[in-house]
Amino acid sequence: MISEWVDLHLHSSYSCDGDYSPEELVRMAREEGFRAIAIADHDTVGAYPEAIETGRHYGVEVIPSIEVTTIFSAREFHLMLPFVNWESEAIGYIISRVENSRLEEARSRVARLQENGLDIDWNEVWEKSGKTPPLGVKIAQILLDKPESRQNPDLRKYYEADQQPKAPYVFYQDFFTEGAPAYVRKQHIPLEEVLRLAPLTGGVPVLSHPGAYFQRTTRDDLIILKELGLQGLEVYTSYHDQNEVEYYQALAEELDLVATAGSDFHGRIKPGVTFGLIKNGTYSMVEKLRERRA
Ligand SMILES: [Zn+2]
Ligand SMILES: [Zn+2]
Repeated sequence: MISEWVDLHLHSSYSCDGDYSPEELVRMAREEGFRAIAIADHDTVGAYPEAIETGRHYGVEVIPSIEVTTIFSAREFHLMLPFVNWESEAIGYIISRVENSRLEEARSRVARLQENGLDIDWNEVWEKSGKTPPLGVKIAQILLDKPESRQNPDLRKYYEADQQPKAPYVFYQDFFTEGAPAYVRKQHIPLEEVLRLAPLTGGVPVLSHPGAYFQRTTRDDLIILKELGLQGLEVYTSYHDQNEVEYYQALAEELDLVATAGSDFHGRIKPGVTFGLIKNGTYSMVEKLRERRA
C-alpha cells in the first residue's frame, strides 16, 4: 500500500541554513515512508530540477517549492509556492529582488560598523563571504577574525574564553538587533507583490507557520491575504502548539484556505525538529493544492 504521508516544508543545503542535500532528504523521506515532499528553500530554487529527478529515482514525489521572505504589515512573513516553475521569469524576478535587498542590508550594516569606529570595510567582507551577501553573524565573524579587532579594547568581551564560540552571535545581539548601534531595517519584498506575481510563477501561495513568533498572523491579516490570492495555510508545523493548530485549522476552514502540513526541517540549526516530526500531512493536501493552480 502506498503511504499517504506528505511533508510540504523541508529545507535542503541550498537554503542558507539547511544541512542535507536534496538527495539525502529524498532518501530520508523514503525511509520514513513519505509519499510526497516539497523542498521549500529560503529564497532559492537551487534544488531544482535535481530534487525531482532524485525523487523519481527513489519513488518519492517531489513537489517543487520555495519559501520567500517577505514583509507585510511591518512584520516578516514567509510564503511558500508549491508547484513553482523554477524557470519562470516571475520567480527569477522575486529571487533577484530578495538578493538585492540582502546585499543592501549587508552593505548598510558594514557602513554602520565603520561609523561606530570599527575597523572593517565592504571589500574585505565581500571577498571573505565568497561574494554572496553575508548575513549579520557572518559579518560579525569576519570582524572578530581580524587580528586588529583583538587589539580593540571595545571588543575585548568577544575574546573571553566563556564567549567562544558564540561570540559572533553575541556580537549580533549587541550590534545588529533593533535599537542597537548598527541596526539596519530589513527591506524585504512586500507580500502583496509576491501574491500578485504568484500566478505567473506557477506556484500556489501557501502562508508558512502563521503562528510563528515573528509573524503572529491574525484573522484580519488572513482576510486581506485571501483577497490578494492566498490559497493555503500551513496549519500543521513545528512552530504551532495544539491551540494554534486548532485556531488556524478553524480559520482555514472559514476562509476556504487549503490546510497544509510541514515540519520546517533544517537539520542542525533546529535540533528540536527531526525529520518526519509532523505526521499530519496527507496526500489529499497535495491534490487540493493542485486544484488551485492558476
Ligand atoms: Zn519560515
Ligand atoms: Zn522554512
